[in-house]
Amino acid sequence: MPESTNPERRPAARATEPFPLGACALESEEGINTFTTARRQLDEAAAVIDLAPDVLELLRWPMRELHVTMPVRMDDGSTRAFHGFRVQYNDARGPNKGGIRFHPEETIDTVRALAAWMTWKTAVMDIPLGGAKGGVVCNPKNMSPGELERLSRGYIRQVGRVLGLEKDVPAPDVYTTPQIMAWMADEYSFMQGYNDFGVTTGKPLAIGGSLGRGDATARGGVICIREAARELGISLEGATAAIIGYGNAGSYAHKLLVELLGMKVVAVSDSKGAIFNRDGLDHAAVIDHKRRTGTVAGFPGAEPIAGDKLPGLEVTTLVPAALEGEISCRNAMTVKARIVAELANGPTTPDADLVLRERGVYVIPDLLCNAGGVTVSYFEMVQNTSGWYWEEAEVHLQLEKKMTAAFRTVHETAGSYGVGNRVAAMIVAIRRIEEAMRLRGWV
Ligand code: GLU
Repeated sequence: MPESTNPERRPAARATEPFPLGACALESEEGINTFTTARRQLDEAAAVIDLAPDVLELLRWPMRELHVTMPVRMDDGSTRAFHGFRVQYNDARGPNKGGIRFHPEETIDTVRALAAWMTWKTAVMDIPLGGAKGGVVCNPKNMSPGELERLSRGYIRQVGRVLGLEKDVPAPDVYTTPQIMAWMADEYSFMQGYNDFGVTTGKPLAIGGSLGRGDATARGGVICIREAARELGISLEGATAAIIGYGNAGSYAHKLLVELLGMKVVAVSDSKGAIFNRDGLDHAAVIDHKRRTGTVAGFPGAEPIAGDKLPGLEVTTLVPAALEGEISCRNAMTVKARIVAELANGPTTPDADLVLRERGVYVIPDLLCNAGGVTVSYFEMVQNTSGWYWEEAEVHLQLEKKMTAAFRTVHETAGSYGVGNRVAAMIVAIRRIEEAMRLRGWV
């Protein structure tokens, strides 16, 4: 397999302050390759535990990838070819699991990185799953519901052969929704010849979804923030937060930070703008405004603010909940928050990680912080398999148990190795995956 056939070229964030450490090794002006980032994180943790070279070599590569092209009939009668991927990174611990992203800048290397992160994430949470990710290069914002449905079905017709409850189970991710999961489960069911809804998670309730899946990613992150504050001895009642990104994870985080922890969310942003109110933003009103207008920008009762100001705001907790690389080594210098809670996947670059560590910021890494989503996806798989559906309180209780146990394990591992939480989470994951691979005779 070539090292990288389609390297990502997302521009790095502009400097907001001079960066004195000279540590921006990977972060050229041309951008950061996400898979390089994922491998650098793996190599760093492997060095700490002196991981056997054969184990490391296996973990540096996806075990399986499928590249597909889908013809999709557009509303104007033309046919367009869309490109997509499914990467099954490692299934030593159980069936592959991970979302599907619809994004105009999707690349195979981004999907590889995200699939690797899913593998580490399910291991950190100690749920019996491997890791995968899918992606389609498209801009859903410029597509009609009919075009999106035909694209979703076309994707499943192409990758369905490698999916299934025992093989690989997709879920929503950036710009994919419960409705898209429903179309995919329907298409797959027709391919199988019977209702096989367990092929996706994050489905609507009426076709085998789980209660509590909608806000699960944010809820898991909020539990981690609560635990981190306990460790740091800080009170969150009335404390401030800023949220970068206002999709599923970001908007539910707004609601739950206020409702469960009594925090004040003073700033939020999305791809079109950002807003600020030092007295706290009303979550129901902002969510309603975004639903009506498609953006948080223009929300009455808040001042507009430049989106790139959010990382440097004077807040207790900063929640990156958008795409990869939001916190780069250039804006990490400006971070004043005590806690950075990574609800997005890969929001902090490796060099930014060093800067945050040096500044004493408590980082709750993505592998732990946003793992509530896949954890409740796992509960959905259990419910689909058994045919017995849980009450919401049961989902919340089991999620609470899983999140707090994983938080403790990561926090204690960080202490015993004298490393940051990200490396600690990686160590926990690698050890568990290594054990499964050894037992199975792979290494
Ligand atoms: N897309 C989510 C993630 O990155 C959820 C994945 C899943 O539920 O399988 O963790």
